[in-house]
Amino acid sequence: MKVTRLEAVPVSVPLREPFTSALGVQSTSDYGIVIAEADDGTVGLGEISLIWHGNGAALCDLVERLLAPAVVGAGPFELTRFEAAAADLLAFGKHTLAAVAAVETALLDLAGKAAGQPVYNLLGGRARDRVPLSMSLPIAPVEEVLDRARRLVGEGFGTLKAKGGGDHGRLVEVVAALRAEFGPRLGIRVDLNMACPLAKDALRLIRRLEPYDVMSVEQPLPADDVDGMAELRALSPVPVMADESVWSPGDAWRVLRARAADIVNVYVPESGGPARARRIADLCATAGIGVAIGSMPELGIGTAAAAHVAFSSPRLDQPSDVAGHLYHADDVVRTGLVVEDGFLLPPAGPGLGVELDRDKLDAYRMNPGRVGSGAAVRPSLRLS
Ligand SMILES: [Mg+2]
Repeated sequence: MKVTRLEAVPVSVPLREPFTSALGVQSTSDYGIVIAEADDGTVGLGEISLIWHGNGAALCDLVERLLAPAVVGAGPFELTRFEAAAADLLAFGKHTLAAVAAVETALLDLAGKAAGQPVYNLLGGRARDRVPLSMSLPIAPVEEVLDRARRLVGEGFGTLKAKGGGDHGRLVEVVAALRAEFGPRLGIRVDLNMACPLAKDALRLIRRLEPYDVMSVEQPLPADDVDGMAELRALSPVPVMADESVWSPGDAWRVLRARAADIVNVYVPESGGPARARRIADLCATAGIGVAIGSMPELGIGTAAAAHVAFSSPRLDQPSDVAGHLYHADDVVRTGLVVEDGFLLPPAGPGLGVELDRDKLDAYRMNPGRVGSGAAVRPSLRLS
């Protein structure tokens, strides 16, 4: 099997309801859908899921102009060669990893279809029968957050993640209210999306949250403040999770060496693809550091890619955010993703286990004039 054509289609798909985090408000996901065609007619799918730099949709042109020539004519198993070519072509753009990830995902989808296997079997095989999920709660007044939490707990989710921003008092109130209402059966994660400028600010907040038995506090400090994260981790009574500090496997290596996190939230779009996300999970396992799988949030293709990583990761230490598709009102694929009682079941293969809906792709296709114009000036959402 050889790749004969690579296309990237910008799409804008609405969320079920707008979501507010420390990074802004999001009401649509403006991403790119990568379609790789092979000489035997097989189609592989990838998704450019990114909320910064004009969103993933703005990277479609880069996929078609720069990355397509590197994969057309190649076989879908040539992942290492593609990674080296992509690194040469895109040496200085961290956000372009989301485009690389989409192409790697499409290659793995083709490879899985060629082998007649689900992608997780190309990533080491299934390490678990189901993946516990965590759903995110936006920054909103306490009662509004509680309403959403009641709905999610009613749907069977056992872990929720409260988003924090500038108002730490509101966050502490939210966490206290969640604990009071749901008791010890609810897992509570907290995500600060870099909202604390200093390690000391973060430590003070964590000490206020500690009485409510919080599972982890995610990325309290700016992405580049790895020393601050290390200082905080040494003092924090609650496990510290790194998110924005870790994009590529190289970032993970630096965070692990600095002992700057107890757990790393691993993303397919930020790492450069499912195989590279698995490499980060391997690095963490080797270093004795925990792993969770994060979400941008992705549509169905990206969620399936993250699911194959979650099912094959050597360790998975906390409920993960592999449910991006649930935040969206619609999708461009039919997925075989099944969520049952707050757990994700293994995706059906071969490949990713998703099927493109051409009518939906056309319905959500962005007009070229709109691409990159949406949230380009203001980063928007971060569900995880
Ligand atoms: Mg996060």
